[in-house]
Amino acid sequence: ARASADPGRVTPMMAQYVEIKAANPDSLLFYRMGDFYELFFRDAEIASRTLGIVLTKRGKHQGEDIPMCGVPVERADDYLQRLIGAGHRVAVCEQTEDPSEAKKRGPKSVVRRDVVRLVTPGTITEERLLEPGRASLLVAVARRKLSDAGALYGLAAIDISTGRFSVMETPQDRLAIEFARLEPREIVCPDAIHDDPELKEFWREVSVPVTPLAREGLDAASAERRLKEFFGVATLDAFGAFSRAEIAAAGAALAYVERTQFGARPPLSPPVRDAGGATMLIDAATRANLELTRTLSGERTGSLLAAIDRTVTPGGARLLAERLAGPLTDVAMIASRHDAVEALVTDGALREDLQQALARVPDVARALARLSLDRGGPRDLAALGMGLSASRDIARFLGQRINLPVELSRAARALADTDPALPTRLNETLADELPLNRRDGRFVREGCDPALDELRLLQVDSRKVIAQLQARYASETGCRTLRIKHNSMLGYFVEVPQAAGEDFLREPWRATFVHRQTMSDAMRFSSVELGELEAKIASAADRALKLELGVFADLCEAVLAQAEPIKAAALALAEIDVAAGLAELASREAWCRPIIDDSAAFTIERGRHAVVEAALKRDGKPFVANDTELSPPAASQQGGRICLITGPNMAGKSTFLRQNALIAVLAQMGAFVPAAHAHIGIVDRLFSRVGAADDLARGRSTFMVEMVETAAILNQAGPRALVILDEIGRGTATFDGLSIAWAAIEHLHEINRCRSLFATHYHELTALGDRLDRVTNATVRVTEWNGEVVFLHEVVAGAADRSYGIQVAKLAGLPPAVVERARAILSELEKTEREKPVASLVDDLPLFAVPARRNAPVISAPTEIDGLRDALAALDLDEMTPREALEALYRLKGLG
Ligand code: ADP
Repeated sequence: ARASADPGRVTPMMAQYVEIKAANPDSLLFYRMGDFYELFFRDAEIASRTLGIVLTKRGKHQGEDIPMCGVPVERADDYLQRLIGAGHRVAVCEQTEDPSEAKKRGPKSVVRRDVVRLVTPGTITEERLLEPGRASLLVAVARRKLSDAGALYGLAAIDISTGRFSVMETPQDRLAIEFARLEPREIVCPDAIHDDPELKEFWREVSVPVTPLAREGLDAASAERRLKEFFGVATLDAFGAFSRAEIAAAGAALAYVERTQFGARPPLSPPVRDAGGATMLIDAATRANLELTRTLSGERTGSLLAAIDRTVTPGGARLLAERLAGPLTDVAMIASRHDAVEALVTDGALREDLQQALARVPDVARALARLSLDRGGPRDLAALGMGLSASRDIARFLGQRINLPVELSRAARALADTDPALPTRLNETLADELPLNRRDGRFVREGCDPALDELRLLQVDSRKVIAQLQARYASETGCRTLRIKHNSMLGYFVEVPQAAGEDFLREPWRATFVHRQTMSDAMRFSSVELGELEAKIASAADRALKLELGVFADLCEAVLAQAEPIKAAALALAEIDVAAGLAELASREAWCRPIIDDSAAFTIERGRHAVVEAALKRDGKPFVANDTELSPPAASQQGGRICLITGPNMAGKSTFLRQNALIAVLAQMGAFVPAAHAHIGIVDRLFSRVGAADDLARGRSTFMVEMVETAAILNQAGPRALVILDEIGRGTATFDGLSIAWAAIEHLHEINRCRSLFATHYHELTALGDRLDRVTNATVRVTEWNGEVVFLHEVVAGAADRSYGIQVAKLAGLPPAVVERARAILSELEKTEREKPVASLVDDLPLFAVPARRNAPVISAPTEIDGLRDALAALDLDEMTPREALEALYRLKGLG
């Protein structure tokens, strides 16, 4: 039998904790205790490790120590951010009644607590947890199996921080591309999809937390019911015609939002069909290679997005990023964006007025979302006030112009449609300096509410009264150092030095002062008068806060009553900001409006690389502009051209390749382009294979990665694709690589027939230009000056005469002796004129025949120095390419 302190006993608090935790097994439980959120058991161990905070113990549970750690409520956001960043989910459990209520139920009663919110990566709203310039998407996936074994996927994306809600449908092979475009923070899907063995590899590669959902209530019928209920409509038809997979996905996304928000209602807009189906398809590798929204090392700085971003509002920055991630393929929609940019290029004065007004606009969409989730503060109200009053100004600027393009006039209408009284009321009611938290009070402007002013006066007065009381006590008791102080334990109290305090314990002061506390050198007392004053002050403060919270609620209600027009205005502000930013960029950097149509053209005059140009400019160096011609030759409608670019390393081949891909992306996202003239027939899919790195995580060598990507291009590129291939075949033996590159070009020419740019160091390939009618040769010019190679970065027709490998190696700092020796070897090699046999292949080989493989010479490694001579003699120079010769040279150097 156990002794009186039963070690198996569970305290009522622990019983409550265990129950709540059991209901939230997948989340870390933040259990509110006073000013802290505490974590217990395994949660505590995980959190203390992730956050680097102390792990302690609190009591025992079933005889075992309970591991515990805590985070202060005031700084909970920081900790949440780090936990979410590390891929955890957090259930926030609050006290849902005043502790005094619990006491009324009995001395042992525990304060009621409940989880009020699940914080997951895809459902965050706090300003500090969000990136201002990036959407925060939760994407739900649903699936419709097709009769012929394939499946169609419905995707629904919700940005709870702005209320955006969109749906789309996509076949399985494009799922990865759509995720690459949307960049969700979190994915949810029914467990059947999550656990599908066919998708196992896919989920592993998606580097986003994926949350499986139990199947119940996720079918299309329940989804439809849920959506109708949330939006209060009898039918979804008003929102558009959606497929069953789209409705199922939308329902799943909504279900997850409801599950994580516990009744708080985000300001979701009704779902709209995403432009997904009408965007340029760009796979994740291509996005990464082209550094569209971030660099290969993951930063925004240095990306195309950073180079073109001249927006001045967070909403504008987000819209720009979204447009860049999904360039359009619809000629009319692209033209309408170009019209808006052009109008603001032409009217520079209007653009400056707009940008100046926009600069005052805070994050309206996210402030609104926080207010509707009842998570907002006074600063969110002020943000709406500022945003809406700037909106009126902007609408006025635009209203004064005639002939506004559609996009701008539509935006102007949305701005004018907001209620002008609302910003006035917000600005007049809110004080200039605002606390973050509404419970801190003092955010209502003086003079707005007479009752509030009176209470505040009372508080000020009471302070005066206290000062008077202190003076009176001091003179009556003759203790000049007597002070009236305040702390949260005692409230107001009288403090006197130890010696005087002893007096207070005796007559006549005993009647007035009640002893409360003895400090090392002072004593503290309370008095009846002080108590009364305290109650008065506290109740005044209480009543004042109540009044302020009432004002807050009224303002909130007024704002939320106009949630729809405010959201429309927020979108309009973002659109104007994007157009103005792109217009500023275009006029400052002399970019041109591209001609976009349904042809297969791709003609660029004096094109530039936006990012490289900006970087060179910072160093005071000019960027050399270059032309590109990939349009089908006038005579043939067979397909686009393949431009084969040769030239030494460092000449600018990759830059040229990428700049053309970037120009296509910019043009179709609705921006002007860095060129003097551009004519582009819609590109429906962009592929690039440029300098892959080893993918060691998946055990793939550079060569393997390269071949996988090349295979994807040759298998998938259609006639409207734009293909950028840089140095394929580099990672293998010369003749292997040359053969692969050769066959790939033939395939592109005969089968894919798409516009392509192909950079290579295999000069032999330029012979294909004579044989294939749509292959053209170009080279990046270099000259030599005093034995040094000089890069002109100029792309001209023709083939490179030589590779300048040795000069480039010299620039890189190879020891002079090696450079000299290499020169000597090269001139020996060149005597053999090894171009000839390859050139003859062009005539001999039928298409797609692999050139006969010649054995690359093998150099055996002799053990003694003398062996060097033998090794040299063994080299069959006639059979070696310059590259193999260089490799041999390295080998020989190793012997010496
Ligand atoms: P490659 O692919 O031929 O090895 P890159 O495209 O990487 O060469 O270019 C090498 C460097 O040359 C770039 O980092 C850039 O600084 C410079 N460069 C490239 N193209 C240009 C250009 N058109 N004008 C000026 N400098 C350029």
